Amino acid sequence: MIRRAEKAKRRSRDSADSLEGAEAMDDRAIKELQGRVRGEVIGTDDARYDDARRVYNAMIDKRPAAVVRATGVADVIASVKAARATGIPIAVRGGSHSVPGFGTAEGALVVDLGRMRGIRVDPASRTVRAEGGCTWGDFNHATHAFGLATTGGIISTTGIAGLTLGGGIGYLTRGHGLSLDNVRSADVVLADGSFVTANEEENADLFWALRGGGGNFGVVTNFEYRLHPVRDIVGGVMFFEVEDAPQVLRAYDRYIADAPRELGAFFAWQIAPPLPFIPEDRHGDTFCAMVVCWTGPPEQAQEAFAPLRPAPVVAQWIDRMPYPALNGAFDGLVPPGLQHYWKAAFAGPLTDGAIEAHLAHGPKIPVVNSTMHIYPINGAVHDVAADATAFGHRNAKYATVIAGMWPDPAQNEANIRWVRDYYAALAPHSEKGGYINFMAGDDADKAAANYGRHYDRLRTVKAKYDPENVFRFNQNVAPAA
Ligand SMILES: Cc1cc2nc3c(=O)[nH]c(=O)nc-3n(C[C@H](O)[C@H](O)[C@H](O)COP(=O)(O)OP(=O)(O)OC[C@H]3O[C@@H](n4cnc5c(N)ncnc54)[C@H](O)[C@@H]3O)c2cc1C
Repeated sequence: MIRRAEKAKRRSRDSADSLEGAEAMDDRAIKELQGRVRGEVIGTDDARYDDARRVYNAMIDKRPAAVVRATGVADVIASVKAARATGIPIAVRGGSHSVPGFGTAEGALVVDLGRMRGIRVDPASRTVRAEGGCTWGDFNHATHAFGLATTGGIISTTGIAGLTLGGGIGYLTRGHGLSLDNVRSADVVLADGSFVTANEEENADLFWALRGGGGNFGVVTNFEYRLHPVRDIVGGVMFFEVEDAPQVLRAYDRYIADAPRELGAFFAWQIAPPLPFIPEDRHGDTFCAMVVCWTGPPEQAQEAFAPLRPAPVVAQWIDRMPYPALNGAFDGLVPPGLQHYWKAAFAGPLTDGAIEAHLAHGPKIPVVNSTMHIYPINGAVHDVAADATAFGHRNAKYATVIAGMWPDPAQNEANIRWVRDYYAALAPHSEKGGYINFMAGDDADKAAANYGRHYDRLRTVKAKYDPENVFRFNQNVAPAA
């Protein structure tokens, strides 16, 4: 076993054309790499190290060998080659939002794309090229200027790269599919430092795997997406009493599969933050909520929302606004530096049993930052053939996420317990796998179920493009033997 690992390490050194003989990311290796890149190479002795190693989830406290703040494709190529030459592992970081903290690793070279945020919109072809370090805030800002958008996440600080490669669920999913359904092409630095483009014509097997296989296949330096006309939307949130949750859930389940595709909506549990639209004496109370986004004619919005209001609304904030405004509206609930522990499952219809499980655990939500969302998987997602991309649960009806997020590490145990208990209660009413982008770090053993029907095909593509599993800090796909 050890001999095999040694051989693989030697092979990887031989294939890399630089930094031969270096044993680890020591001062010399860091200096050499700094000579080859335009960005900063930050080693453990650097005053910037603690800032550079920090990721969004404050529970993650890893000490990588060095962090490269890449400024372009050349830096990424040089970094991958340097890591291969020294034999140290590589962690790739886009927007840094991975809950298990996959954007860093103990002793690894972190390739941080956070400086690579260039975007070019082509309004004539309704496409956009965006670098791998962009956030959805960057992306929506750039495309909104042209009255265009594509499916992204619901929080503006999340990275486009990690989110897209795993799936991409958001307000526009029902109308325009998952984020990955809108990818036309991707530029990728592979495990040997070579550069390829993947699309339907070139490296089609890689293109298939990138769309659902997460960060397993290489570093995506640039994505090309399809865009759609979306300018102003009508959206926001309505709060209902906890005891009305069964009615709200049943109404949602009845309506959402065939509702107009201009409607994005998801169910949530939420402790009321101290916001002006919520009566002051209800601040801090727990509610169930519907979050909505209507991209159709504004005058039709209320009609579209009506079936989602089967019970009295206690408080609501719904307004006409630019799409990027809704994308940033809830950012304040999830600032950087919270502790995160999440679990997720795909599910079918909201049966009585599932609703009972939600009612038993949802109202116990411990803090204002935490939540549980039930996202619809339907509409345009179901227009795409199940085998067209590597996304393994296209036929699911819902993606459920129990997102534990809290500020005080002293509360870790109680918050983690809430997530685990809720998840266990939903398990009998869920599919085996969950959305890879919502899973916790202790879910590594569920990778096959999470990738679902495509896991074996993913393993074959992994064996072709990354046989030594260089890109392994992710929901890992084991290369086929
Ligand atoms: C507050 C919050 C809100 C969220 N909202 C949504 C949502 O609305 N919809 C949704 O679908 N998901 C959502 N997510 C989940 C999100 O999709 C994942 O956390 C995703 O991994 C974030 O991507 P990132 O680039 O920010 O993460 P990072 O931590 O930078 O990276 C995560 C993973 O992606 C890989 N990766 C990152 N960049 C690249 C790249 N350029 N090339 C190759 N691999 C790369 C890394 O290897 C790593 O495995 C949310 C997460 C958080 C914390």
